[in-house]
Amino acid sequence: MERIVNQSLLNGLCNQGDDAIAVYNPSTQRIIGYVPSLSKSGIQEKIQSAKLAQREWQQKTAAERSLVLMRWYDLVIENANDLASIMTLEQGKPFAEARGEVMYGASFIQWFAEEGKRTYGDTIPTPASNKRIMTIKQPVGVTAAITPWNFPIAMITRKVAPALAAGCSCIVKPANQTPMCAYALSELALQAGLPKDLFCVVSNASSRLVGDIFCNDQDIKKLSFTGSTEVGRTLIKQCADTIKRTSMELGGNAPFIVFEDADIEQAVAGAIASKFRNAGQTCVCANRLYVHTTIYDDFVEKFVDAASSLVVGDGFDQEVSVGPLIDEKAKADVMSLLSGAVKEGAKLSLGGDELDGNFIPPTVLTEVTKNMSIVQEEIFGPIAPIIRFSDESDLLEQANDTQYGLASYFYTQNIQRAFRIAEKLEFGMVGLNEGIISTEVAPFGGVKQSGFGREGAKQGIEEYLNIKYICLGAIDS
Ligand code: NAP
Repeated sequence: MERIVNQSLLNGLCNQGDDAIAVYNPSTQRIIGYVPSLSKSGIQEKIQSAKLAQREWQQKTAAERSLVLMRWYDLVIENANDLASIMTLEQGKPFAEARGEVMYGASFIQWFAEEGKRTYGDTIPTPASNKRIMTIKQPVGVTAAITPWNFPIAMITRKVAPALAAGCSCIVKPANQTPMCAYALSELALQAGLPKDLFCVVSNASSRLVGDIFCNDQDIKKLSFTGSTEVGRTLIKQCADTIKRTSMELGGNAPFIVFEDADIEQAVAGAIASKFRNAGQTCVCANRLYVHTTIYDDFVEKFVDAASSLVVGDGFDQEVSVGPLIDEKAKADVMSLLSGAVKEGAKLSLGGDELDGNFIPPTVLTEVTKNMSIVQEEIFGPIAPIIRFSDESDLLEQANDTQYGLASYFYTQNIQRAFRIAEKLEFGMVGLNEGIISTEVAPFGGVKQSGFGREGAKQGIEEYLNIKYICLGAIDS
C-alpha cells in the first residue's frame, strides 16, 4: 500500500477483524488489506439513504449533474497512477494495462456526463385535432449493480456513470476479490462533490446475501449485473418477484476467424491482443481460433512466435505483459481444460508448463477439433486453441454453435465476405479485421445467453430511464 500516494483512496478499507473481508494480491497470494462486511440491516440502510439522495438528485438539471460527473472524471484522471496501482495489487494485471483500464473506465464518466444532457423525448403527430402527444424520459430511481473482478473499474463506471447522469442513485456490490478499486472510485466521487449516498459501495462476505437483498428490495428499481451466465440466470429469477428491470452482461465464447484472404500479420497481432489481454480473463477475448487450412501452418508459426515473446509475472514488473490468474481455483479450472484438450488429442505447440503461484504461461493448442470441451466452454485463461477449417458455411455453423453470443472476430480482405459474415455471426459485437473492440462510444452487449441490455454509447443511458407518455387533451376548448 506504500505505492499509493493519495492515501484518501484507501478510506473505504478497514482493520482486520471478524467482519472484515481479506483482499489478496493474486501475484504474491498475500493479503494486502481488508474491506468491511456490511450486515443485512447495514445494506438496507444504504438503500434507504440512496432513495432519499436520489429524490433530490433527480431535481437537478442535467447540466448540473454533468458538472459533478466531469469533476469526478478529472479526479479519476489525476489519480490514474494510484488507481492503476490499486488495481494491479488486487487484480494482478500489468500496471500499463491497469492504467489503460483506468482511462477506459474514466471515458464512460466523461461520455455520460455529456449524454445526460441529450435524453430527449418526442412530440408525436396527433391522431386527434384536440389532443397533443409527447414523451419525456425520467430516471428509474434507485439502481443496484453487481460487478466482476476482471475489470474492477470499467465495469463499475460503465453502470454508475449513466445511472447518475440519468438522475438515478446507484449501489454497487463489487467482487470481493477486487473491492478496493470500487471504494477508491466512490471516494473520488465524493471529493468531486457528488452528494453522499448517491453512489455507494457495499460488500459482504456472502455475495448471495447481497444478491438476495438487492433483488427482493422494492425500492431498488433496476439491477445491472456483469458476471457469469450462471449467476445472471439466478439473479433474473430472483428479480421476478419485484418485476425489477435488469440488464445482464454475461459470459462469452468468442470465435476468432482467419480466412485465407486475410492479412496474416494483422490477424496475428489482433489475436495476440484479444487472447492474452488480462491473461485471457475477459468476456470478449478470443476463446477459439478458426484458421483456414491453406494458411493454418503459416498463421500458427507466426502466432506461436509472437506469443512466446510475452513475459509472465508480477504486474509491477515493467517487462511483464501477462499477469496471474485471479486465484488458485481459476488456475486449476484452466489447467483442467488444458489437460482435457491434450487428452482429447490437441497438440501443445507452446506453453502448458506448470508454474508456481497463480501463473499460467501463454499456451497454444493446435489440431483442436470442434467437440473438445475447450471449444465449448469459456476458458478465461491464456490458452489459445486453434482449429482448422476449409468450408465457409460449415465454419459459420461451428462459430454460431454456442449458447453464448457476446463478441466475435474475423479477418478477411474480401468485401463481399466481410458483409456476409458480419451479418451471419450470431453475436452482439463483431470485430472485422480488429481484435480490440471495446470503447465508450459503441454499444457493448450480447445476445443469446450472453445477456441483454447495452452499455456505453447513446444506448447505455436508456437502461436507466423510463419513458413517460403524456397526452394533453381538450386543446380546442
Ligand atoms: P461471477 O461469479 O458471476 O461473479 C460476478 C459478480 O457476481 C461478483 O461480484 C460476485 O461476487 C457476484 N456473485 C456471485 N454469486 C452471486 C449470487 N449468488 N448472488 C449475487 N451476486 C453473486 O463471475 P466472475 O467469475 O467473477 O466473472 C467472470 C464472468 O463474468 C465470466 O463469465 C465473464 O465472461 C463475465 N463477464 C462479462 C462481461 C460482459 O460485459 N458481458 C464483462 C466482464 C466479465 P463475489 O465474487 O464477491 O462472490
